[in-house]
Amino acid sequence: MSTTDRAEAHAESPRRLAVFCDFDGTFLVQDVGSTLARKYVLERRSETLAHFLRGELTPWECNMEILDGMPVPEEDLEAFLQQVELDPGAEDLLGWCEAKEIPFRILSDGFDRNIDRLKEIFGIEFDYDSNHLRYEDGVWRIAPGYPNPKCGCGTGVCKRGRIDAYRALNPNAFVVHIGNGRISDLCGVLGADLGFAKDTLALALDERGIDYRAFKTLKDVVEQLDELLRDAAFEVEDGR
Ligand SMILES: [Mg+2]
Ligand SMILES: [Zn+2]
Repeated sequence: MSTTDRAEAHAESPRRLAVFCDFDGTFLVQDVGSTLARKYVLERRSETLAHFLRGELTPWECNMEILDGMPVPEEDLEAFLQQVELDPGAEDLLGWCEAKEIPFRILSDGFDRNIDRLKEIFGIEFDYDSNHLRYEDGVWRIAPGYPNPKCGCGTGVCKRGRIDAYRALNPNAFVVHIGNGRISDLCGVLGADLGFAKDTLALALDERGIDYRAFKTLKDVVEQLDELLRDAAFEVEDGR
């Protein structure tokens, strides 16, 4: 079913747009966890990824192997976070959603401590769901945020699960998910009404013959969402 069909199938009840967006590699240019892992636990990371590719570990089990206990001095983490960059359209997307009163939420398989710090550094505000990170004697201690045994993704934050939870409270939602990673974003797009994809997520969707909108930066996404809003296939304002 095409995206338009899916929207029209529910045309009898007004749909309200809601936007969910991945963080690392999508809202941010860099991927915080994997960049630091390459620097601090390179060997452990390569060994673990080999196990993962043989199907012996879930994505969250990989996180535990690679990131739990990772020795990153707090001042090094701070210096790294100080130099990461937002996607050139990240603030446009936040501003657009705010102006149109469209709910926006980051769904991240990354970590709360880093996201909180980046919100401070960039002086931006948004709601999010993520995994948990704290320091213990100079090393990372991590815990999953919203694992979902019913989904095959095996991540710490099942994005489909978060989207399903949103739908349960907002049955008329027309859900958009924006992402870049086949591991953490695929189930999010499958659970959404419309996916925006780049990088390995786009490849994974191509392989499965699933419709999505391609993008390079979030500026492209804002442009397309703006067009979508003008599309009569669904309503954004509550129709009551
Ligand atoms: Mg990502
Ligand atoms: Zn999932």
